[in-house]
Amino acid sequence: IKDSIEIERHLRNSIRDGEVQLHYQPQLDICRRIVGVEALLRWNSKALGSVSPARFIPVAEQAGFILDLGRWALIEACTQWTRWRTLGFLPLQLAVNVSVVELRYPDFASQIKTVIDQTGMDAASLELEITESSMMDNMSEAIREIEKLRAMGVKISIDDFGTGYSSLSYLKMLPVDSVKIDRSFIQDLNESSQSAISLVRAIITLAHGLNLKVVAEGVETEEQMRILTHLKCDSIQGFLFYKPLNVDLVGEILERNALDRNGTRM
Ligand code: C2E
Ligand code: MG
Ligand code: MG
Repeated sequence: IKDSIEIERHLRNSIRDGEVQLHYQPQLDICRRIVGVEALLRWNSKALGSVSPARFIPVAEQAGFILDLGRWALIEACTQWTRWRTLGFLPLQLAVNVSVVELRYPDFASQIKTVIDQTGMDAASLELEITESSMMDNMSEAIREIEKLRAMGVKISIDDFGTGYSSLSYLKMLPVDSVKIDRSFIQDLNESSQSAISLVRAIITLAHGLNLKVVAEGVETEEQMRILTHLKCDSIQGFLFYKPLNVDLVGEILERNALDRNGTRM
């Protein structure tokens, strides 16, 4: 296991040295059409090799680099989205993960607005994913910033839903557009596990009752897909369809998706 101090030391120059990239994982609707992509950071360190975001994001948060990394990722993803727009790959939602540290930073919403304006991103096509636990602490401040973003048309989604400690009664106070059911719940889904199915059904019913869209992440099997379709989950992300892909590969897939879409319309 790589030492946090080592990670911190090398992460410091990772952007400058061109070691970080974004990969993109397609998100599909229930008819299996691509409706969006989630941008996911990748760090290929010359010194440490490839390091998982699950490992380096917490270090970046601790050390404060996450502000730079998050800003870099948002600019990069929005710029890429505008290229895809030029190529005719739209409509396409762009999901970008946001850390609690960014959310708490003063003027969070206006920082995001600056990037939207500078890159030519369409605010309504941008979705920010914020983890459940981070929304819950310091709620009133988070809500204020989130409302500003939503007034601009930006969508907000609660990531890793079900893993935090949020009281369900808070959910109706959170100004969000969708929830992403955590991978751990999806992993347990199979036709012989009634309790796993009940749990996911309850989450979907609750979310739909609050007018929220539901995304399932970590879908790996056709059986899980069948159950989620039956439960009326709105969109799906997972290795069953696509892994996170580098920008060239995902571009080819988006191109094919756009051709299919236009083809069926004619
Ligand atoms: P997340 O936002 O919940 O992203 C989903 C993670 O699940 C990704 O891991 C993705 O590769 C993985 N995944 C997707 N489908 C499947 C599947 O079918 N099976 C399995 N086993 N895994 C699947 P990844 O890319 O390693 O990212 C881990 C976490 O790091 C992300 O979780 C997110 O919290 C964080 N992260 C990644 N990029 C960024 C970023 O730009 N900013 C911030 N703040 N956090 C990021
Ligand atoms: Mg996410
Ligand atoms: Mg997640």
